Amino acid sequence: MPSELEKLWFSQAALSAWQNCPLKFKYRYIDGLYWPLTVEGKVSEHIEMGRKFHLLAQRHFSGGGAGPVPGEPLLAGWLARLQEHFPLTDAEEYLPEYELRGAKNGLRLLAKYDLLVIAQDKVTIYDWKTDERPPRAAFAASPQTRLYLYLLSSSGFYQGEPEQVAMVYWNPRFPQEPLRVSYSARQCQEDGEWLQRLIAEILSTSAFPTTSKEKNCRFCEYRPVCHGQGLEEIQEDLLELEEVDWEQIQEIALQGVNLP
Ligand code: SF4
Repeated sequence: MPSELEKLWFSQAALSAWQNCPLKFKYRYIDGLYWPLTVEGKVSEHIEMGRKFHLLAQRHFSGGGAGPVPGEPLLAGWLARLQEHFPLTDAEEYLPEYELRGAKNGLRLLAKYDLLVIAQDKVTIYDWKTDERPPRAAFAASPQTRLYLYLLSSSGFYQGEPEQVAMVYWNPRFPQEPLRVSYSARQCQEDGEWLQRLIAEILSTSAFPTTSKEKNCRFCEYRPVCHGQGLEEIQEDLLELEEVDWEQIQEIALQGVNLP
């Protein structure tokens, strides 16, 4: 096993990279190669809007007040919807941009939650999306959802039952269409077993094959390395990939790609 993997905290970005293409995982987490995805500035713009919204949300839930947002009407509208849908109350505790690490049963897991809302008898994870479609039902079974809920339920951070934990994806473009994912003791056990299998597979591998899906290469940041070509012009299906987004960049930056 490469020594870098002994130190790696497995985030949703790492698990997704492995599942999409083991070679991509190697480039990022073993070789330490990473640079943000750009296509004539358009993807950067998408990421930049996500970054700004996450910052505004962090300020709002920190109680420090967010806004105004001069010269950015789209962002100002998103902030207004956030404040309307999530007014602060004394009955809840808000932990924006909360990092949680857990080392249990040989698993070193890492999550950077956009927001944790702690009420008397429950905890809700919120994840902000800013792409041009409502949160999709498929998110419920994504590595991010499984890792985020499992880690919160099993790390000792929260002493309640898994049934008292939930995750909500919310997009300010579609404020009335959140995706809510509930949790259970059974799902928690299944997620733990899934993570054990997946991480054991990664740690025991000696080969990092390329993806079998050409689609994964089209907007991959390593395309110039693998194929000697630049990234393709952004298209609608880029937003479907959800492969490189603000959360992933945060998580990758958090541990310096392959540093402990
Ligand atoms: S360009 Fe394709 S083969 Fe190369 S790392 Fe990216 S997804 Fe894998």
